[in-house]
Amino acid sequence: MSNRYDAIVVGTGPAGAVAAEALGRAGRRTLLIERERLPRPKTCGGGVTWKAARALGVDLTPLAERTISTVDLHWRLKAATTMPVGEPLVHMFQRSRFDAWLVERALATGPVELKDGLSVKTVDTGPGGVVVRTAHDTFEADYLVGADGAAGPVARSLGLMQRRHLLPATEQDIAVDDRTMDHWQERMALDIGTLHGSYGWVFPKDDHLNIGVGCFSTDSRPAKLLKDYGRRHLAYHLPGPVRVLRTVGFVLPLRPVGAPIQSGRAMLAGDAAGLVEAFTGEGIHWALRSGQIAAQVIVDHQAAGAKGELGYEARIDAELMPTLVDARRWAHIYLWWPRACYLLPSRSPRFWGAVAKIVRGERDYTDVRRRLGAFGRVADWLPVEMG
Ligand SMILES: Cc1cc2nc3c(=O)[nH]c(=O)nc-3n(C[C@H](O)[C@H](O)[C@H](O)COP(=O)(O)OP(=O)(O)OC[C@H]3O[C@@H](n4cnc5c(N)ncnc54)[C@H](O)[C@@H]3O)c2cc1C
Repeated sequence: MSNRYDAIVVGTGPAGAVAAEALGRAGRRTLLIERERLPRPKTCGGGVTWKAARALGVDLTPLAERTISTVDLHWRLKAATTMPVGEPLVHMFQRSRFDAWLVERALATGPVELKDGLSVKTVDTGPGGVVVRTAHDTFEADYLVGADGAAGPVARSLGLMQRRHLLPATEQDIAVDDRTMDHWQERMALDIGTLHGSYGWVFPKDDHLNIGVGCFSTDSRPAKLLKDYGRRHLAYHLPGPVRVLRTVGFVLPLRPVGAPIQSGRAMLAGDAAGLVEAFTGEGIHWALRSGQIAAQVIVDHQAAGAKGELGYEARIDAELMPTLVDARRWAHIYLWWPRACYLLPSRSPRFWGAVAKIVRGERDYTDVRRRLGAFGRVADWLPVEMG
């Protein structure tokens, strides 16, 4: 087989896997390159929202390890307000399994070839397409999707996303007994207000709990504070000795408004493009959506004789950024009035219902803001960057 493809996709996270799947379905010969051997772990709570499942167009309930319909909302590590939704809100997955399933779907389309355990070193773009180099091989294609996450080489190689805001997050997988798991049957927990601009979560998996903390504070607090919060958060939920299966930390990247995410026929998708919802830390939905858009843009461009602008960045700006920017405004509300973000959902079923609809993808922040009338318009004045 020649080393020339219609498209090369770097990275097999949600962004890369769905881009490859859509390209394969459209009959495009696609090379999917992944640095790790699959299945590979990924630092992530593995909460796949109903909204993300809608973007995939698949009922994930039979595949998910758990499906959550109740949230325990804690204020400063104190007794929770239990808030049922009455409908599925978030599916829980271990990312190794979810991502492997997405890749299988891509490979089942036929013209998608996977090379895992192969690390991309550099990429170059020219008028005829793209050149991708690994340690020993060179591959060429008409188009490239850089879906290689927050620390991948594609953006760096193309000189994109150099100025971005990184939100730190750490998590632990904790082994617990069956009785404890039963408590978390269809339930997850969130803690807010304990450390400025931070939040904690408990996400139940098949046979363990994923417990973590993240932060979108703008005052670049030392990592030690977040680590200390992580310790207190864990001890609050599981007092006494625990069996830690895994402790990891990583970042959630945010694209500055207007920052380029396309160079010639190369596009960045998902975390590589900083497409993360600041208020909730949700990245999977945005990775799926941007991967789908990248593939659609490639198919349309090729169908139009590969002439003119790709228009990827314009589509991301029009279809994804308005909601992501609004999520940053909500994150600022949490930074400045954290107690309101506890009281509103926990005291007002109507407000909580609206939040649940956002997570389920039935509404977005902009709709909710519109419904808040004059109060909602005040949000226009809130900053649209977190850094
Ligand atoms: C602690 C934490 C918890 C989170 N929890 C959630 C959550 O519960 N729900 C949610 O929606 N989001 C969550 N996120 C965000 C979410 O994990 C990301 O937004 C999402 O994984 C982005 O998907 P992606 O496909 O863009 O990139 P990734 O999933 O990061 O995939 C990138 C892929 O590229 C590969 N790669 C990297 N470099 C190379 C290279 N040189 N060559 C070839 N391949 C390469 C990587 O190995 C990886 O497989 C969390 C993030 C963190 C840090």
